[in-house]
Amino acid sequence: MPTPLESLLQHSAFLSLGKDFYTSLQPTPLPHASWVAISPELANTLGLNSAFKTDEVALKILTGIEVPSSMKPYAAVYSGHQFGVWAGQLGDGRAITLGQINAQDQSWELQLKGAGPTPYSRMGDGRAVLRSSIREFLCSEAMHGLGIPTTRALAITQSPAQVIRESIENAAVVTRVAPSFIRFGQFEHFASNGMHDQLKELTDFVIARFYPEALQHEKPYLYFFELVLKRSAKLVAQWQSVGFCHGVLNTDNMSILGLTLDYGPFGFLDKFALNHICNHTDSQGRYSFANQPQVFYWNLLCLAQALLPIMTSDDSDEAMEQTIEQIKPILTSFTNLYLKEYQVLMSRKLGFDGDTSEQSLHIIQELIQLLDKNAIDYTYFFRNLSRLIQDPQRSLLKDHFIDTVGYDRWMSSYIDQLRIIGIDPDLVIPKMNQVNPKYILRQHLAQMAITQSQLGDHTMVQNLQQCLSHPFEEQPEFEEYATLPPEWANHLEVSCSS
Ligand code: AMP
Ligand code: MG
Repeated sequence: MPTPLESLLQHSAFLSLGKDFYTSLQPTPLPHASWVAISPELANTLGLNSAFKTDEVALKILTGIEVPSSMKPYAAVYSGHQFGVWAGQLGDGRAITLGQINAQDQSWELQLKGAGPTPYSRMGDGRAVLRSSIREFLCSEAMHGLGIPTTRALAITQSPAQVIRESIENAAVVTRVAPSFIRFGQFEHFASNGMHDQLKELTDFVIARFYPEALQHEKPYLYFFELVLKRSAKLVAQWQSVGFCHGVLNTDNMSILGLTLDYGPFGFLDKFALNHICNHTDSQGRYSFANQPQVFYWNLLCLAQALLPIMTSDDSDEAMEQTIEQIKPILTSFTNLYLKEYQVLMSRKLGFDGDTSEQSLHIIQELIQLLDKNAIDYTYFFRNLSRLIQDPQRSLLKDHFIDTVGYDRWMSSYIDQLRIIGIDPDLVIPKMNQVNPKYILRQHLAQMAITQSQLGDHTMVQNLQQCLSHPFEEQPEFEEYATLPPEWANHLEVSCSS
């Protein structure tokens, strides 16, 4: 009898696109697989029962050792701009999509990251290490817990097989799950190769499955672009409001569905710093925290350029000019869309209940400067801000600031503004706690979980996964995960190798 995973897996709809879009291939098995962690919530969403973690066949399938005979795994081809430079053809160099599961009115592709080389691996070995797999697994599920659109992660499996990075590390596979892993880079790929029929096919596929509202529009491709832009603006506003820095915002890491995609050297800010760079190979700071919205805009510009041929009725210069004129206002709308979204999110974090009056925005702006100047822990500050409202001395967070005069000044204008808007302190506290997480995936927590896991104890990975799925709730059993980073965490450097 097939196991639940086997019986749920179906051919991926992406396969209908044909050979120009992917290569069919089998994963390269890793020996002696074992489980590291699973996401019970996601397993449940997919309709896998609680016995999933003890299912030996599932373990083999998710490590690429066994492939159900009816499956046709594939690696997709894409191209992209990396660090602002055209990189040409890339593709799934180590991610192999097994198939899809239809559950809860959606289809979910299951992709094995680290399942062996593909024709797109270039010089890479097609593998992923346990360290980076744990980071991706935990952050995917943490982002979901925060309500931020993201690819998900069902499980990590590992093998004693060794792979060489800066040092020798164990190989692992993370099973990523998403309605689609299609990237901006896929559109750029077909556009740059002059394959306009395929570009149209890909766009029609994405519209039919994920943006059907565009079909009602007079100019479906233009409207599709606008919808992608809106989702992207919303996503990056959420990142900025929670203090998330992606680290490698190349166009091949941009999801066409507006999901957070490809977790590499990402980081949540501990001490707030607008110019924070979490990828140490990014010496120019192109992908610094504060630059992210602008980079999204730039990446959207690349997408618009890629879609131009199918947005335009014929290849005459006039038609092209006309399309460009239609795209311009959509692109220009990005900044406002982003800002509005960000301002509302920040307003809620401060307890202003979404008020974005000039005075509220001024207070938000002043706070950002103050947090930056004083290197204040971003998550800790916001989580404790609601407690501060109850503190008649308003001094609760004061000793974290060097500029105490600035703190007093800001605090007094903040309290005044709460009064002006007419916020009831008792009612606002639970609301603030619903938007200011207590728990985030801090670098030191990820590092501690990795170190323990490398020594064979996966308890912390599983505990963090559980805790970070409910980041706004008080979880006394996980109080230690809410503390400020220890001194050693200041010197942590996240390796970009993965
Ligand atoms: P990333 O920086 O992880 O988004 O990867 C950029 C490109 O390099 C993608 O095409 C990846 O599939 C590929 N890649 C990264 N690491 C490896 C690896 N170890 N083996 C093969 N391809 C890889
Ligand atoms: Mg990538």
